[in-house]
Formats: sequence, structure tokens, C-alpha cells
Amino acid sequence: MEKTIFQKIIDREIPATIVYEDDNFIAILDINPVNIGHTLVIPKNPWANMYEMPAEDFGHMMQVAHMLGVKIKDTLEADGINIIMNNDPAAGQVVFHAHVHIIPRYTGDGHEHWHGARGYNEGEAEMIADKIMENY
Ligand code: AMP
Repeated sequence: MEKTIFQKIIDREIPATIVYEDDNFIAILDINPVNIGHTLVIPKNPWANMYEMPAEDFGHMMQVAHMLGVKIKDTLEADGINIIMNNDPAAGQVVFHAHVHIIPRYTGDGHEHWHGARGYNEGEAEMIADKIMENY
């Protein structure tokens, strides 16, 4: 299978700006940042998305994202931080090697979130909650 761009970075076949590395994760600056300091935390194991990742590894990835998120907020004096993971094209995933975005945010930086598109009809929220809970 063709290596992902992140695998090539991990294997040092293409360059990246590395901000953190350990045995299991690498973190790099996103090449097309939403704001300066936008960082990607990438597991060295090439899981395609979070569904493929064991929960324990997902937890470790979030620990790295937490450590770096706090550091980036302090270092860059950000007003806020978004932690985002896109899974599947429908959710905006473009590189199919699991990764978490750490995005420094500034008051008035102009980036918008998705907007709630609708409310729930009578009884619908309870029905959906029951459906999700049935699945445990
Ligand atoms: P996603 O939509 O979550 O799959 O996001 C993939 C991210 O990877 C995008 O924000 C890209 O800007 C970023 N990206 C793609 N190629 C590179 C690269 N060579 N170095 C750093 N970031 C990259």
C-alpha cells in the first residue's frame, strides 16, 4: 500500500517541522496552518482513523495533544485552543493516517465553527440517546 504523507514524514523521506517526538508519536507544524503554530499529533503506527486505534493508544495520543496544547497556548499566547480530529471524508479527513489537530485561536481571528443546523423534534433527542446507549 502507498505510504501516506505522514508515514513519509515519520520515515524521514520528506521534511517537516517537528515540534515533538517519542517512540510512538510525532508532532509537526501543519503545512497549511489555520493559525501560526497549528500542530498535528500523529501516531507512528499507521492507523487510518480513530476507529482503527485501540482506545489506549487514542488516550495516549490525547495525552500528547494535551501536553502540547497547553505548551502551545502558553508559548504563542493564544486566547484559546481547538483540539480536532477528522475521521473519514464526510468529516473532512484528507490524510488517511490518524492525527489530531491542535489549533491556537485568537479572539476575532475570523475562523468560524460549524453552525447548529436544526433542533430536535418532540421526543427525538430521547430516541437518539436510547439508540446510542443500546449500542454499548
Ligand atoms: P485532515 O483534513 O484532518 O486529514 O488534515 C490533514 C492536514 O494535513 C491538513 O491540515 C494539511 O494542511 C496537513 N498536511 C498535509 N500535508 C502536510 C505536510 N507535508 N506537512 C504538514 N502538514 C501537512
